[in-house]
Amino acid sequence: MPRTSLSVPALALALGLAGGAFAGNALADESVTAWRLFVSDHEKPVVHVIDALDGDRLGTFTVDGPATLHRTGSGETVFAVQGAAGKVSAIATGIAFHDHGDHADIDVDEPKLLDTVFSGQKPAHFVERQGIVAQWFDGEKAARVFSEKAVLDGKAEVRTVDVTAAHHGVAVPYDNHAVVTIPNPEDASKRPVGARIVGFDGKQAGGDAACPGLHGSAGSGDIYALACGTGLLLITRKGDAPEIRHLPYAKSLPEGSVSTLIGGKGLQYFVGNFGADRIVLVDPSEAEAFRLVQLPTRRVHFVVDPVRPQYVYVFTEDGKLHRVDVVKGEIAGSLTLTGPYSMDGHWSDPRPRVAVAGDKVVVTDPLAGKLHVVDAGNFGKTGEIAVEGKPFNIVAVGGTGQVHDHAEGEGHAHAH
Ligand code: ZN
Ligand code: ZN
Repeated sequence: MPRTSLSVPALALALGLAGGAFAGNALADESVTAWRLFVSDHEKPVVHVIDALDGDRLGTFTVDGPATLHRTGSGETVFAVQGAAGKVSAIATGIAFHDHGDHADIDVDEPKLLDTVFSGQKPAHFVERQGIVAQWFDGEKAARVFSEKAVLDGKAEVRTVDVTAAHHGVAVPYDNHAVVTIPNPEDASKRPVGARIVGFDGKQAGGDAACPGLHGSAGSGDIYALACGTGLLLITRKGDAPEIRHLPYAKSLPEGSVSTLIGGKGLQYFVGNFGADRIVLVDPSEAEAFRLVQLPTRRVHFVVDPVRPQYVYVFTEDGKLHRVDVVKGEIAGSLTLTGPYSMDGHWSDPRPRVAVAGDKVVVTDPLAGKLHVVDAGNFGKTGEIAVEGKPFNIVAVGGTGQVHDHAEGEGHAHAH
């Protein structure tokens, strides 16, 4: 059952709008900014929704288990993957943008936990591209693919693609195909050995692409990358179908490989882990595609800045947030935010996670029960938001758009 404490007038006030503004009649052209944080707990089956601009709690949703959160490219949906509970829930974020060519309109509504829930064996890696989601289940022999729009409309139609054997892999969705990992033929509990393109008609397109030790994937621009022991597989689209090429690690790199990958927005690049205390910047268009950046201590989490594309934020176990300039390939600032969070101990212990909400960088501090808010402009801490329990995974959605009535004959009239 959806549970939220938010009323629409309260939201309108939170946004600085007069009550009834959503009806729109009396409203002149107005620029509205809204950013929301979705924060899950390390132990409890809850997802909090927090207004990133003033720290107000907009609601708390109860799901079936502790969740890993993923936002879609549109920001209209957040998926809560509950691995232990075997469930994937969907939350309508309540913030939507409509592109009108010369400007974008913003719609702001209450966030809602949707009725659509996907149940299955060990849901794990989640990939969304262009409004299509591929949800992987480690305990199943098929990946599920569905559209974000269908989920928002409450009528998710699921297509499946065969993955040979249950394993910890990933699927990357395209319109008529998915790229799926190939399980290790000797032991499917080991890392996958490659990837292949399979159509929703069940037919394979092209040959198998070798990618031993495959783990980690991310998109940037028109490239989707999978990380291997030998390099990256780069997937691009050619005509109707995706195609795959292998980008080997540079000979100049030390021994190692990438197993966690993120992708730049606004600039086409990838960032991967490379050992516990280094990251590697990858620009597939350069002859020297790989650059290493040494961190002062071991890495806890990293994200790209979608607004200031030259920056990546890396949180390290000494409690510091680092701003890495991917153009220069160096750390451009460091800020102590939390107590130490050693990377010794269990990989899934509660440790900070980072999200970027417009001009703010927000870092969860699970053991202190709060979020740290950092100004992305001057890279200084500006505040904290208390969250009960152990706030853990976090994603942000939002932006700025116009709220107005489109006059008749303006060429793009629409109804909200
Ligand atoms: Zn408009
Ligand atoms: Zn994994």
